[in-house]
Parts: sequence; C-alpha cells; structure tokens
Amino acid sequence: MAMAGSDGLRRFLGIPYRQIDNVWSFAAQGERMSLDVRTVVLLGSLLAAALALILVCAQSHYARLLRESMNLWVRGLLALLLAQVLFGLRDMAHDLLSIVLANTLTAAAFVGFALSVRRYLGIKSQTWPLWLPVVLIAAMMYVFTALLPGYVARVMVFSLGLSWILALLLRPLAGSLRRGGPVGQQVVAVTVVILIVTVLVRMLLLALGPAPVAGLLDGSVVNTVALTYMSLVPVLTTVGFLLMCNERLMDDTVRLSTVDVLTGAYSRRALTELSERALAEARRYRRPLSVLMIDADHFKQVNDTYGHSAGDAVLVEIMARLKATLRTEDFVGRIGGEEFLVVLPATPEEEAVRVASRIRERIAGATLVYGREEIPFTVSIGVAERDPGEANIDLLIKRADDAMYAAKRSGRNRVFAASAIDAVAR
Ligand code: GH3
Ligand code: MG
Ligand code: MG
Repeated sequence: MAMAGSDGLRRFLGIPYRQIDNVWSFAAQGERMSLDVRTVVLLGSLLAAALALILVCAQSHYARLLRESMNLWVRGLLALLLAQVLFGLRDMAHDLLSIVLANTLTAAAFVGFALSVRRYLGIKSQTWPLWLPVVLIAAMMYVFTALLPGYVARVMVFSLGLSWILALLLRPLAGSLRRGGPVGQQVVAVTVVILIVTVLVRMLLLALGPAPVAGLLDGSVVNTVALTYMSLVPVLTTVGFLLMCNERLMDDTVRLSTVDVLTGAYSRRALTELSERALAEARRYRRPLSVLMIDADHFKQVNDTYGHSAGDAVLVEIMARLKATLRTEDFVGRIGGEEFLVVLPATPEEEAVRVASRIRERIAGATLVYGREEIPFTVSIGVAERDPGEANIDLLIKRADDAMYAAKRSGRNRVFAASAIDAVAR
C-alpha cells in the first residue's frame, strides 16, 4: 500500500505507519501528495485545543445561558481531541479503543455541538434523535471491527451516522443562511454543509471503486482536499460559534440600552426614537396619536414608609397593570424615576382619556402585597393628543406633562386632558 505523504503525526507520536482507520484519515490513503496531511491534522487538533482553552477562559464573561451553551461546545471539542488521540494510537491501543471508541467519540462530539447550538437558540426538543446515531455507530463499529471486520463497511456506517447528526446540527441554523443573517451561525452552517458533502462524497468514492479515475478527481487530490478540510472543521465551526457568542453579547447590550432593567419599559432614549417614528407615521397617514404622562403619587413617601425595594416593587407593579390595560400597538417608556410615558397610536384624546381612566382605576383599585405589608398606591395622568401637523414630540410630551401637573394640583389620583387645561388657560 502506498504511503500517504510524509507521516508527521505518526513520527511525532513515535508510531510505526499503518493505515489509520477512520473517516478523518482514511482519505489519507492513495498516491503521494504534495501536502503533509498528517501535519495538517496535527495542527488542526492543536488549534482546536487552543480554541477550547480560549472558550473556557472566555466563559466567565458571558451570561449564564450562553455559558451553558459554551460548556457543551467545549465538551464537543474535547471529545474530538480525545478521538484524534485514540485514532493516533491505532495499533498501539486495542481496536475497541482506537476504532470503536474513537469513531463513537467523533460522532458524540458533533452531538455536543448540536446540543450547544440548541441551547444557544433556546430550542427545547428531545435529544434522542441526536444520540441514536451515536449508539448505532458504536454498535455497528463493534460489529464491523470485532465480528465481521470490514473497513469499507465501517466508513459507510460512520459517514451515514455522522451525516445524520450533522443534518440535525444544521437544521436550526438553516434559517440564518438568508442574506444579512447572523454571521456566526452562517459560518457554522456553511462549514457543516460542506462537511456533509465531503463525508458523503468520500464515502461514495470509497464504496464505488478501488481507485477513482485519474485526473482532476485523482484519489490523492480528493483525499488531500477532504482530509485537510475535515481537520479544519473544528477550528472553522468554533470560530463561527465564538462569533455567535459575541453576536449574542452585542444583542444583549443593545437590548439593555433600549429597555429599563427594573420594569421592562423602554428606556428614555428608545422611547424618544419610537415615539418620533410613531408621530411621523401619524402625520403621514393623518391619524390621531395621543400620549399619557403617568407619575406615581407621593412616591417619596412610599419609599420612606416601606423602603426602597418596596418602591421598586410598586414600579414593577405599575408597569404590569399598564401592560394589562394597553393594546399591543401601544408602548410604554420609563422616562424618569417614577414617571412613565405611554404612546397610543391611532387614538384621539377622548379615547385616550378613557384608557387613562382605566389605568388609574386599575392602579388605585388594588394594593400591592409586599412581604407582610399592603401598599396602596395611585398615579396621576396627563393626556395629550397631537395637534394637526404637529411634528415635535417634545411639545406633545410637554403638554401631557402640564396636564399631569394639573392633575397633581387638583388632588392626585386623577386624569387630566391637555385640551381641558388649554380651555381653562384661554
Ligand atoms: P408627587 O405625588 O408630587 O409626584 O410626589 P412624589 O413623591 O412622587 O414626587 P418626587 O418627585 O418628590 O419624588 C419622586 C421619588 O421617586 C423620589 C425618588 O426617591 C423616587 N424614585 C425615583 N426613582 C426610583 C426608583 O427607581 N426606585 C424607587 N424605589 N424610588 C425611586
Ligand atoms: Mg415625578
Ligand atoms: Mg411622583
């Protein structure tokens, strides 16, 4: 049998050359190659080990959910590394280790990646369809090693089983392959697609004849390309996965800057942007639009009497009752400590006053049970509708604010409309 290029890995490990029996390196058989494939495999393994280390170090900086996902990915990488070491020990270690266990670990490694991706995407589905091919690979590898030894049969079992797992790994990522999709997921998905093709093409070439036609598809060229690609897969997918983690981190940062952490209402900045857009739309389509300025009454007293965390709980409760009253197209921002602004698209003042009254009643109607305390709380609400042609959201908010202060002055726990104050002022 011809030797596959120079055998750097074997020399590195001090192992006399014999055929390494696995899909990652069966490709290395054939005529002489210009590329030292074993060195490529070794480098691929070392890079993957380095990436696993980087992932472990980076883990602590990520949120818990992402950490769990990274953890699964690292386990996949470690399984792959262990598999490569076992492949390397062929003829030194027992066949059950260097063939059966090594191939099973390789398959299990990709199950680890698939589980990691599912955790990342928050997909909760049964995991047995992923583990089943691993069990089948283990069982059939045993059969074709110990009972009916057959190299081609083993490669077929492994290739089909791995393709099955890879397809399941790919499925939740396929949606990312549209233009402008998340790059990290795209890198992983594309790497996996090419891997499936590589594994299956290799399997067919091996099954369909002893030596493929010479020329472009010369066995050694195909083998070199295939094996080189396969040894790069851990690196490529892990780089993709790291990008995925960073994308998630960035998304979280953006979300944190647009949403108030305590109540889940929009932050002031996000609300300004959203309400400007809503106002522009109302102008374009000549639709009404109203805003509610809502301020908790005597909130300082709530803090002083029950404590600051009780005050926080009241703010959360106000938000919950607001949400329970509003439509999905309305939105709420927390624009001050105990001040909320609600934007009601396509709503004239009269209707907005009715919405505000419902909110006020819902809030004044029930106390908040906090520990052993029952905390009563109320709000004052100012209502303003955009004037025809009004283009400035700040002016609209100012009129709602003035109406809210009028509500405060007249005794709190009230709803005041800007038009009513305008009428008084005139
Ligand atoms: P008024 O009825 O006139 O609105 O009286 P008030 O006490 O609600 O108004 P004031 O503006 O004097 O006080 C607002 C208080 O809200 C003061 C501040 O400590 C409290 N506050 C602001 N942000 C928060 C917060 O995030 N959590 C808690 N617990 N309190 C807050
Ligand atoms: Mg206030
Ligand atoms: Mg207040």
